[in-house]
Amino acid sequence: MSPARRAADEALGGSDGLPESQFASAPASANINATSADVIVVGAGPAGSATAAFLAKAGVNVLLLEKAASFPRDKTCGDGITPRAVHMLHKLGVSTEGWHETRGLRIKSTDAACEFPWPLTWETPETGYCVRREVFDETLARHAQAAGAQLVTNAAVTEPIINERGRITGVRTRDGREFSAPVVVSAEGVASKLAPAMGLDRKPNAISGVAMRAYYTSPKTDDDHIELHLGFSGSAPGYGWVFPLGNGTVNVGAGLLSTACGKTDYRHLFDEFVASLPAEYGINESTRASDIKGAMLPMALDRPSVYRNGLLLVGDAAGCVNPFNGEGIDYALESAELAASAIVEAKARSLGTISAERALFGYRYALNDSLRGYYRLGIIFAHLVGNPHVMRLCMKYGLPRPRLMRMVNKLLGNLGERTGADVDGRVIAALSKFAGQL
Ligand SMILES: Cc1cc2nc3c(=O)[nH]c(=O)nc-3n(C[C@H](O)[C@H](O)[C@H](O)COP(=O)(O)OP(=O)(O)OC[C@H]3O[C@@H](n4cnc5c(N)ncnc54)[C@H](O)[C@@H]3O)c2cc1C
Repeated sequence: MSPARRAADEALGGSDGLPESQFASAPASANINATSADVIVVGAGPAGSATAAFLAKAGVNVLLLEKAASFPRDKTCGDGITPRAVHMLHKLGVSTEGWHETRGLRIKSTDAACEFPWPLTWETPETGYCVRREVFDETLARHAQAAGAQLVTNAAVTEPIINERGRITGVRTRDGREFSAPVVVSAEGVASKLAPAMGLDRKPNAISGVAMRAYYTSPKTDDDHIELHLGFSGSAPGYGWVFPLGNGTVNVGAGLLSTACGKTDYRHLFDEFVASLPAEYGINESTRASDIKGAMLPMALDRPSVYRNGLLLVGDAAGCVNPFNGEGIDYALESAELAASAIVEAKARSLGTISAERALFGYRYALNDSLRGYYRLGIIFAHLVGNPHVMRLCMKYGLPRPRLMRMVNKLLGNLGERTGADVDGRVIAALSKFAGQL
């Protein structure tokens, strides 16, 4: 182990690089004997834990099945929590105490830089956070447990149990256990097994991203802005980031959209990005404090539907990542709230009735209403910036214009005033509405 890796592990409080659980006294898995419930949620990432928490708070009996053996567990991510996500955490009542606070976004290209505070709106605060997913995901899972959800770890779901009418009635795990419920939520992330098994494959032409990240010890750790880098690569129109964690380390990553022209050697892109960073960041091979890991980002609602025959999809399983900026945590939480609300309504109407079925189906429309137009606009944006010439023109003529960039900042983060109280919010809403009708 390199000295830098050891120093980072110590800073993070654990010899395996993971922080010590903040919840050491809580059980690693609970009530493993319960095998039926009103609702089964599969996957205890942000989408699953938030769905389970919203449901449990509404008095719904919910089982939360997670394949990991215990929490904390690793998840490849940039660890950036935007104000939109913070708003959702406030709604859930999740404490953010001890997390590294951010005040805005800095965008850098090879020859320009601009900085924006997080826009304060009626709904979203002027604060974001960076926090390792080991901590974030455990916080949410324990929050769901505390609300009354029964968390079962070590439960890797392999397939749905489907009745003669094609309706999901439960799930089976790798070790042969069966769990039953009239409603199942797939919060399995990008590799959902339940969605394709219920006929909800991804659309063939769906756009997506791939990103890689690693932790480094760096003096940038206490920065109060997250940093986005553009135009660093000679081979592809990729984006890179440096997100400060406030514990001696930063999360460094690079990604590329599937719409990008040019090479798609993601590891090469990551290396190019690290090599392009200023020497004073101290980010290089000798300060790397973790493995370099990558994953796919499923974007812009990439399945034909998010509901079918008793199965609801939330978060990455539903392809909820924002195509403008690769942000997925907030949309995992937002889709969780909408799905839980549809299920609560369905339960009140008596599950199994036509009326309840309409309520469940309503989730599809609620999610579309909330995101479809904005995401359609994002797809257009993704195709434009996938072209290196367009990307270069945007950086050359866009970045030096503060007024334009202020709006772009709100557009990228979906942080326009939703009440229509500011011009930027109205422009973004109008563009989204137009795109939604295309
Ligand atoms: C490199 C990278 C950087 C990113 N950076 C950011 C960022 O900075 N900010 C941001 O907002 N988003 C970011 N994202 C996107 C974000 O990570 C995801 O959108 C988010 O994690 C989605 O949450 P989820 O709950 O839907 O899925 P996940 O977080 O993937 O959680 C899924 C859970 O389900 C469990 N599971 C999976 N399959 C099964 C099964 N069959 N049975 C039981 N359990 C199962 C998994 O173990 C996991 O706990 C990034 C993504 C990548 C790849």
